[in-house]
Amino acid sequence: MFAFQAAGVRGVVEYAKLMEAVKGIPVSPGVVIGRALVLDDALHYVPHRIVPEDRVEAQMERLENALAAATSELEEDRARVEEQLGTEPAKIFEFHLGMLHDPALIEPVRTSILEDRVTAEYAVAKAFRTMIARFRAMENEVFRQKTNDLMDLDRRVLSKLMGKTQDRLDRQTEPVVVISHDMTPARAASLDLNKVIGFATDAGGRTSHTSIVAAALGIPVVVGCKHLTQYVEDGDELVIDGKSGVVVVRPDAETIEQYRVEIERISDQQIALREYAELESVTLDGVRINLMGNIEFSHEIEAMISNGGDGVGLYRTEFLFLTSQTEPTEEEQFQDYKQCVELLGGLPLTIRTLDLGADKYTQQRAEEPERNPFLGLRSIRYCLQNLGLFKTQLRAILRASAFGPIKVMFPLVSTTMELRQAKMILKDVMEECKEEGIEFDQNMPIGVMIEVPSAALTATTMAKEVSFFAIGTNDLIQYTLAVDRANEKVANLYSGAHPAVLYLIKRVIRAGRRLGVDTSLCGEIAGDVEYTMLLLGMGLRTLSLVPSQLPNVKRVIRSVDMGQCERLARKIGSFDSERQVLRCLRQQLDEILPGINGGRAAT
Ligand code: PEP
Ligand code: MG
Repeated sequence: MFAFQAAGVRGVVEYAKLMEAVKGIPVSPGVVIGRALVLDDALHYVPHRIVPEDRVEAQMERLENALAAATSELEEDRARVEEQLGTEPAKIFEFHLGMLHDPALIEPVRTSILEDRVTAEYAVAKAFRTMIARFRAMENEVFRQKTNDLMDLDRRVLSKLMGKTQDRLDRQTEPVVVISHDMTPARAASLDLNKVIGFATDAGGRTSHTSIVAAALGIPVVVGCKHLTQYVEDGDELVIDGKSGVVVVRPDAETIEQYRVEIERISDQQIALREYAELESVTLDGVRINLMGNIEFSHEIEAMISNGGDGVGLYRTEFLFLTSQTEPTEEEQFQDYKQCVELLGGLPLTIRTLDLGADKYTQQRAEEPERNPFLGLRSIRYCLQNLGLFKTQLRAILRASAFGPIKVMFPLVSTTMELRQAKMILKDVMEECKEEGIEFDQNMPIGVMIEVPSAALTATTMAKEVSFFAIGTNDLIQYTLAVDRANEKVANLYSGAHPAVLYLIKRVIRAGRRLGVDTSLCGEIAGDVEYTMLLLGMGLRTLSLVPSQLPNVKRVIRSVDMGQCERLARKIGSFDSERQVLRCLRQQLDEILPGINGGRAAT
């Protein structure tokens, strides 16, 4: 269609009214054309954006307005503190006010705007960074301590320039495409879909939790675009192509026309795929495959059912915590799980206990960053150190189990001891419920997620403790390959097709089969049609995936027989590189269903 421009090659990008196509990582399919709303986050990242000559004056004006607004806000704060606490404490604002008018700080900002033609926010961020570094390097402790005040002042001025994210979103009257450096899973989950029709970020990986939420939202999303925020300004027209992972900035008329045709083609394809929702999930030779849905919120159950799913194979319950200002009570959690059970009308609900930490924080812990959060106090580890929170959730799950079939599973278990501990706590909570006369399913199946290499390698031991395994490849890939699943800089190394990952999956399936433990797979590769034949061939009979992909995966299942899948799995088992594996998977799928995965890269 047009040549891709590798984003960021030039480092700093001259803003110009030219079309740019930026390649990122596709995480939620679909195409959308709309106007950009750039949500820079003053706390984390200010892009190095250069403005055209005729906008320099406007940037100067923005700076003066922001300085004036910050000054009057500080004066108000000083007056309030003086009234409430006296003159002495109010003096702290004198430093702030003095700095705001200190030529040593403010003149370089003006010079940057005028001479380097950067945005006012970039000039401010740069000048403050330099000043903070200078204070930090001072011998005198009193000066060094002023760095916190400077950081606070920096944030104040930047928030005047950039506005508060939520306010800016709330003010939109037309639907927009959100562009930002990064986005937390919680923010993605709370996007108002009447206003946001797609989004793209500089940061992020294929299976980061933000990407997972994006896929659930069903709007086109591309992450890992590296320097996209440097190319885009508010109001720019954009195309987000969530299938091939391309963002076209300021598309020309011909490109827009090509994408309009693509939007129609996708819509026709979706209509055609709908018929698969009604059909049985069975291979050509009659093997039934259970297709379950992964959900983050109860309202996704409707989509799971209408797409022909057999139940919920993974309910990521932590999202209830992430989207709320306060910790949900037992009653709130119980009501949510009960509602899920009712919506499912007899289909199974697999509840995963809280998987907080790493890229998903509770309100309380957000202030306490860990050095290695993905290797830190996450998931079951967090629950085992926060027993009150864990027991409250277990009670809510048990109470809901009286209303329909619920299974419970523990995430990120890395040792058998942890699993035994979690089960013991569940047993304690069961005893308490019994004593209180609370009804629950005494035979509720207990499972474990296999998503850490140590768990995969000791699956035979784990199997003795549980009635089912759910293989979580999103984490299993990152921990096996030592690649952060949310880091766009190493996204090229993150692959489910790596022979080491496939070896571990195979091992778990074998252990499950030998010890009579049901095994399913619920990582993102379960929804990637390129992997379907391989996963069946390796012996899986249950997959759990994002509901929107259910018809597509079912289409593959109904087009293959088990002999073909097993032959493919054997062949793949002899390969020693991820490339060979992917090439073979793509070729095989293309022979059976040409064009089904048009252009989408495998996970
Ligand atoms: C996984 O790790 O594969 C998984 C399903 O869990 P999550 O993506 O929520 O970490
Ligand atoms: Mg996981």
